Amino acid sequence: GPVLGIESSCDETAAAVLAADGAILAEAVLNQSDHAAFGGVVPEIAARAHLAHLPRLVEGVMRHAGLGFADLAGVAASSGPGLIGGLIVGSGFAKGVALAQRLRFVAVNHLEAHALTARLPGLVEGGAPFPYLLLLVSGGHCQCVAVDGVGRYRRLGGTIDDAVGEAFDKVAKLLGLGWPGGPALERLAAGGDAGRFAFPRPLLGRPGCDFSFSGLKTAVAQMVAGYPAGPLRTQDAADIAASFQRAVADVLADRAGNAMAAFAAAPGPGRLVVAGGVAANATLRAALQAAAAARGFSFVAPPLRLCTDNAVMVAWTGIERLRLGLSDRLDHAPRPRWPLDAPDMQRA
Ligand code: ATP
Ligand code: MG
Ligand code: FE
Repeated sequence: GPVLGIESSCDETAAAVLAADGAILAEAVLNQSDHAAFGGVVPEIAARAHLAHLPRLVEGVMRHAGLGFADLAGVAASSGPGLIGGLIVGSGFAKGVALAQRLRFVAVNHLEAHALTARLPGLVEGGAPFPYLLLLVSGGHCQCVAVDGVGRYRRLGGTIDDAVGEAFDKVAKLLGLGWPGGPALERLAAGGDAGRFAFPRPLLGRPGCDFSFSGLKTAVAQMVAGYPAGPLRTQDAADIAASFQRAVADVLADRAGNAMAAFAAAPGPGRLVVAGGVAANATLRAALQAAAAARGFSFVAPPLRLCTDNAVMVAWTGIERLRLGLSDRLDHAPRPRWPLDAPDMQRA
């Protein structure tokens, strides 16, 4: 039967209903605008906004799907990692529905939801088969992961300082673009000269597939602070944005290249999958697609709305887990930290 998914780990309140075969019956995402004035997500405001909006959002997707709660096979909710207040709201709501209707509950790891998005049957023919190499690029994470199966993740490398989305958000702030910064920076960069500023490309050409972005961010900060002609003109800001984005693209392509070399694909062609909010960036997608082609890997990138936080990926992860007989007790505690390779990811 169908599965309801709920996402509330950060500042997107989202709900979706998927049929057992992965067909999307209904989806809704609410981007909380309440944080813009603060230049970042305020956890308490986020939790209260989830509480205020989630019931209406869930009602809406259920109505759109033409289903009642009793028609569901299960309820899945992001239960970590993320901001604990929002996680408690979303997982608590899901548990309430599950308890009332005696449905199975899946405590979804939000990173696993990003990781399994490429398996949605509508994306690749029948969904990407295991194993594949995942580049997870989001607001809180930047890592290369070998995805061997549901719950089976091997971390090949990750950032040693900032997450890539964090770097986008910080540079956007330096350029006065407001918040959230990633999409605004990409729009500004579209009119800029990516070759004008030679920003550093941390770890490029070095072995391994770790990442580092703090030096790049600092270089942009120094450029902006020391800009000779006083306040930045729009064209200068666009050139900085484009040059920064190009540096990130070069780094991601280089590190993903090493990860592909290290990734011993089981029989069949190698496949590089990108996921997470930063994977919505067209310049980065193009660079990664080229890197994959150069290694003979095929490339899978979800549609933009399924890169940033959404509940379709959460419901889908619920379906994948329920198929394997994996569900969770109603006393499962949401957690702010929950790495993909944690021992309990293969929990029964
Ligand atoms: P995590 O998934 O690690 O817990 P999160 O859920 O906050 O973090 P996502 O919603 O997956 O992160 O991604 C949000 C991040 O993606 C933000 O840092 C945002 O700036 C960035 N982002 C979104 N769109 C773009 C884009 N077009 N270009 C670059 N960055 C983008
Ligand atoms: Mg967000
Ligand atoms: Fe996310």
